[in-house]
Amino acid sequence: MRRIVILGAAESGAGAAVLAKVKGFDVFVSDMSNIKDKYKDLLNRHEIVWEEGHHTDELILNADEVIKSPGIPENAPMIQKLKAKNIPIISEIEFAGRYTNAKMICITGSNGKTTTTSLIYHILKHAGYDVGLAGNIGRSLALQVAEEPHDYYVIELSSFQLDNMYEFKADIAVLMNITPDHLDRYDFKMQNYVDSKMRIIQNQTPQDAFVFWNDDPIVAAELKKYDIKARLCPFGEFKSDSVIGYVDEDSYIIEGPVPFNMEQEELALRGKHNLYNSLAAGITADLAGVSNEQIREGLKTFEGVEHRLEKVGRVRGVEFINDSKATNVNACWYALDSMRTPVVLILGGKDKGNDYSEIFDLVKEKCIGLVFLGVDNSKLHAAFDGFGIPIADVKSMKDCVDECYKMAKPGSTVLLSPCCASFDLFKNMEDRGEQFKECVRNL
Ligand code: ADP
Repeated sequence: MRRIVILGAAESGAGAAVLAKVKGFDVFVSDMSNIKDKYKDLLNRHEIVWEEGHHTDELILNADEVIKSPGIPENAPMIQKLKAKNIPIISEIEFAGRYTNAKMICITGSNGKTTTTSLIYHILKHAGYDVGLAGNIGRSLALQVAEEPHDYYVIELSSFQLDNMYEFKADIAVLMNITPDHLDRYDFKMQNYVDSKMRIIQNQTPQDAFVFWNDDPIVAAELKKYDIKARLCPFGEFKSDSVIGYVDEDSYIIEGPVPFNMEQEELALRGKHNLYNSLAAGITADLAGVSNEQIREGLKTFEGVEHRLEKVGRVRGVEFINDSKATNVNACWYALDSMRTPVVLILGGKDKGNDYSEIFDLVKEKCIGLVFLGVDNSKLHAAFDGFGIPIADVKSMKDCVDECYKMAKPGSTVLLSPCCASFDLFKNMEDRGEQFKECVRNL
């Protein structure tokens, strides 16, 4: 019996283990950390052997193939040992792809993955397709293939997942953008990260499609290096000969496969970045054969994704928006760009080497107050103190929301779009967003 070892027992690893077991492999799961109870239960239900808190070499280095969680870096000692023994290492998505003939719609990019993935899923689901949502978004593809197979999967792929994909093919590949991120996992070489993202098109044939943001200079430069077989479906902000999706005179237009248009005003998602996300999703749905009427309905009725420019509510004329997921400066730029009223902006947290100059102009143009929420706000002061905009320092979400409310005037917006990771004061970006919403509700 072939032996499959799974390293990491969270959503992707536990799901892969179940699929491997169902397919008759000798399965062993090993996790260096503690395994969550819900995944232990899942493994136990399927009588899968597992260990936690350590890796036992003898039980791992005898594998025929290893499925690695995307969270484990290449330089982890066990990965090095496996490589030295030439044991193949693949991702959960690669493994699951072997056991389904479903149509695969795969989305990657540095920003916009979750929003675009969720929007495509919403349109297809709303149109009555038998579709599953999977990947980085937090649902295992392998588990669905094992237990509730679908005709279509919409899969969010991180660069870490793409790294261990070899034979897998996307029927429709979507690439949003490439900006520097996660370079610590790529030897601090941007090209390594870019190469990883470009794996989204590997193995594609002329029957497949590649949807991409045409205005991204990095993507444009990369395309020249590849002999792309798939049908090219570029989109951009403005009409031109090189795009098939764009906005022209306030109309949202897709030229094909089936021509489609609607008023831009009717799109559920607002802001320039969401226009890109909506174009990518509309083109993808069109390629998947969704009718124009259903695409329109889907684009109109999508409710957005939590913590991404999420409207929290209005308190005595002040709008509150939770964009806690904006953990880099680029995401905050797009949030500010979409604001139509004066803004009190919440910045701060764990700085990942940010260059705030990208948002200087928008801050000068739109902000009437800045609230710095972090353990160490010195870099923010150095960047923004000279702007003549009122600034407050806070160390808890309650103080933060109170301070914002004092600074805001009726008709203005309080925007949490902090440019930074949340780990200094919060468990994660979800915790930061939840606390923000809770404090707004208590105002
Ligand atoms: P990802 O899954 O790639 O992290 P999300 O959809 O979760 O992307 O959005 C992450 C952050 O980036 C949010 O703050 C969001 O407002 C912003 N954002 C969303 N789409 C885009 C885009 N196409 N370009 C730039 N920023 C975006």
